[in-house]
Amino acid sequence: MAKRIILFLKNSRIWRSLKVRLFIIMFLMGMAPAVFMRAGILENYESRAVDVRTQDVQTQLRIIANHLITYNYLQDTSSEGIGAELEQLSNLYNGRVLVINAGLKVVKDTYGISEGKTIISEEVIRCMKGGGTVSYDPVNRFIEITVPIVETLTLPEPSEDGTDTKEVVRGVMLTSVSTDSIVNTMDVLNRKALIMESIMLICIFALALLLVRVMVRPFDRVTTAINEMKEGYRDDPISVPDYLETEHIVDAFNSLLARMKALDDSRQEFVANVSHELKTPITSVKVLADSLLAQPDAPAELYKEFMADIAEEIEREDKIINDLLALVKQDKSVAEMNVSVVNLNTLTEIILKRLRPIARKNNVEVTLISRRQVTAEVDEVKMSLILTNLVENAIKYNREQGKVEVSLDADHQFFTVQVKDTGIGIPQENIGQIFERFYRVDKSHSREIGGTGLGLAITRSAVLLHRGSIRAESVEGEGTTFTVKIPLTRTLV
Ligand code: ADP
Repeated sequence: MAKRIILFLKNSRIWRSLKVRLFIIMFLMGMAPAVFMRAGILENYESRAVDVRTQDVQTQLRIIANHLITYNYLQDTSSEGIGAELEQLSNLYNGRVLVINAGLKVVKDTYGISEGKTIISEEVIRCMKGGGTVSYDPVNRFIEITVPIVETLTLPEPSEDGTDTKEVVRGVMLTSVSTDSIVNTMDVLNRKALIMESIMLICIFALALLLVRVMVRPFDRVTTAINEMKEGYRDDPISVPDYLETEHIVDAFNSLLARMKALDDSRQEFVANVSHELKTPITSVKVLADSLLAQPDAPAELYKEFMADIAEEIEREDKIINDLLALVKQDKSVAEMNVSVVNLNTLTEIILKRLRPIARKNNVEVTLISRRQVTAEVDEVKMSLILTNLVENAIKYNREQGKVEVSLDADHQFFTVQVKDTGIGIPQENIGQIFERFYRVDKSHSREIGGTGLGLAITRSAVLLHRGSIRAESVEGEGTTFTVKIPLTRTLV
């Protein structure tokens, strides 16, 4: 049952509202003390009033008990004075008084019903032994009190403990007094407390409602601001500094927004760059073709020359598209990694062998320094791409008679590939941008040597897929060093 209630509450929309929860908590916390106080005060009043009434009656009974002994009432009930006293007590407390002698026989009943009858009740017998009793019956609204009728006898000679008197119980006075007046007072008190409680209930209800509305308002403001942003009314960062909590939510939202905006900007820039890069060779092809068409009698040599240029442009277009495809492929997901254990020394040697003809053409010397044998868990194709791009750049952006030094090293966690050239270098202010897509320090020079501006972007993305890092250091006019650091195993890091 309890489980079902919890489940119901969890699923119910109302209970999931912070406003409702806060309201209930405030309301209960406001009302609980009032309810407990009313119950406590009434209970306290009842026990106190019953105590006072009991003590009053006991005192009266003790006085009358003394008179009973003095007038020997237990043997002779003719004393009118005592009779009147008993009657007065009975009337005063709206009760009944019974005088019972040592033989448990009722000698006087103010109701006149039980006279002559024998009473064997636990209380009476206990009282006969010397102790009075009190019992309160809140249901039937009466207090039953017994008081012993004690006669003090003077002893002919003092007893062992030095006293010369002795108390003997001659009978019992049994009284039941009504507590109607106490209950009536309690009813009045209860009614007054209830009225006050009702007023408090209305006040606390209104106060809780007001407080909840005020307290939750900042959260509503956050929602409104986000909605406004969603609907496009605003695009400035949201600010709701009322609570630390709203500030945290808003900060998180703002940084998410900034990230999305940056992503959107970079996507737009990428699309613009792609269109531009793809358009350039096409424009060249069109210009070349148009100029040929414009000369109907163009010599065959010119045709050949122009066609060679057109082929070059098409090759360039093809290169850009291939690079773009490689980049997009790598952007997709890590799942496309085709990892195997690869000997990097061998792989680097193969790549350098492949690139040496280009190096020779550029009069650049390429050397490999294998500081140790390195085998690592990598994607061989992507690793080849990384090495090829870096070494190709080192050759492309080198000077006549320049040098390229590729070194391979490892510690127990990572392997490092360093490609160091003695080329033109990269200006310090541009070094942060070289990994961006389509970024080229010198656009025309890069174009001349067949660069697309995508090589380093592809390289970096491949390194990141290996959970590695890439760093570039350069001194303009002296040379550049690229350092790639990759974990030896996939489980590492
Ligand atoms: P690209 O296809 O133009 O070579 P990359 O992404 O490979 O594109 O390189 C981006 C730019 O970084 C290059 O245009 C070049 O200006 C610069 N760069 C890259 N490698 C080197 C290097 N080893 N020495 C000097 N500049 C370099």
